[in-house]
Amino acid sequence: MFDLPAFDAHEKVVDVNDPETGLKAIIAIHSTARGPAAGGCRLWTYAGASEARTDALRLSRGMSYKNAMADLPFGGGKAVIMGPVEPHNREAVFAAFGRAVDSLGGQYITAEDVGVGVADMMVVARETRYVSGLAKVKGQVGGDPSPFTARGVRIGIEAAVKARLNRDSLDGLRIAVQGLGHVGGYLCDELYERGAKLIVADINAVRTEEMIDRYGAEVVDVKDILTVEADVVAPCALGGIITPEVAEGLRAGIVAGAANNQLSTAEAGAVLQRRGVLYAPDYVINAGGIIAVSAEYHEQNDPAAIDAQIEAIGPRLHDIFDRARKEHRLTQDVADTLARAKMVRV
Ligand code: NAD
Repeated sequence: MFDLPAFDAHEKVVDVNDPETGLKAIIAIHSTARGPAAGGCRLWTYAGASEARTDALRLSRGMSYKNAMADLPFGGGKAVIMGPVEPHNREAVFAAFGRAVDSLGGQYITAEDVGVGVADMMVVARETRYVSGLAKVKGQVGGDPSPFTARGVRIGIEAAVKARLNRDSLDGLRIAVQGLGHVGGYLCDELYERGAKLIVADINAVRTEEMIDRYGAEVVDVKDILTVEADVVAPCALGGIITPEVAEGLRAGIVAGAANNQLSTAEAGAVLQRRGVLYAPDYVINAGGIIAVSAEYHEQNDPAAIDAQIEAIGPRLHDIFDRARKEHRLTQDVADTLARAKMVRV
C-alpha cells in the first residue's frame, strides 16, 4: 500500500473482511489533524482490491482538503465497500460496516456517498454513533446531504460565471450536467430555477427522461456530454473524467461540478488552464454536503448558519480564481496550498 501512487502519508488504512456477511471494505484515514476523519462511504463494484484501495486513498485525502478548506473541525477519511451487494444481504452488510466503524472508536465518521443512501446509514447507526446523514428528525437538520451539495455547486458555478464571463446571472447560459443522481438532480432544479438551459446525460435513461419532462432538458449521449457546446460543464457522476484528451476537446469555458477527483492527472488541469478553461477545484465547490453533515453530527441545528457556510463557497472560489490568475498558477494548486495551510490541529 505504501507504494501505491495514491498513498499520501495516510495515518491509517483498515481492510475490513466479514466472512459472515461477505462485507469487504476499506476505511482510509488520511488525517485527524483537525478532528475525527470524516467522509462518506461509497458502494462500488471495483475491478479488484487494488482499485478499491486506490479509490479510498484518493477520496480520503480529498476529504482532508475539503474539510480543512470549509473550516470544519474534521480531518479526512473515506470508506469504500466493494460491491456488488445482493439486496437480501444489504442490511447485514451495512450492519457489519457499522461495527467496523465503531471499532475505530471515533477516529472515522461515516455518511453517504455514491451508491449509499439514508436507509443504509440508519442501519449503520444501530451499530455506532460515529455516523451522520441520518433520517431527518422533525425540526432538525439532517438526512441526505445532496441538496446542500447541489446548492453549493450552484453557488460555485455562479462564482465561476462571474470570474470567467463577467456575468451576474445564469439566465440563458447553457449548462451541461453529467450524472443526474442525488446531486445532479438537485443541481438541475437549482440551475433551471435561475434560467439556465440544461443539457444532460446519464447512463440511466429514466433519469434523463425525467429531466426532459421537468425542464425541457436537451439529452446527449454520455460520451458527448463533457465536450458538448456549452458555457459550463458540471461533472456530477464519477471522478477521473477530465483527462488531458477531454480537456483538449472541451468547448465550455468553465468546469464546475460536484464529482470528487474530477481531474484524472495534474496534466489535465494544466491543459484546462492553457486553453483558458476555468476549473473550480472539486473539493471547494462540493463542500455543501459535508457542511450539513458536520452540523448534523455536532447537533448545530441552525439552518441560517449552514446557509452562511454554504454561501461562503462563492467568495472562497473567487479568492482562488483571483490568486490563480495573479500568480499564474493552476486553480487546484492554489486550493491545495490554502487547504494544506489549514490542515493543522484546531
Ligand atoms: P449518485 O450515485 O446518486 O449519482 C451518480 C449518477 O451518475 C447516477 O445517476 C449514475 O447513473 C450517473 N452516472 C454514472 N456514470 C455515468 C457516466 N459515465 N455518464 C453519465 N452519468 C453517469 O451520486 P451522487 O451522490 O449524486 O454523487 C455524484 C458525485 O458527486 C460523486 O462523484 C460524489 O462523490 C460527489 N459528491 C457527492 C456529494 C453528495 O452530497 N451526495 C457530496 C460531495 C461530492
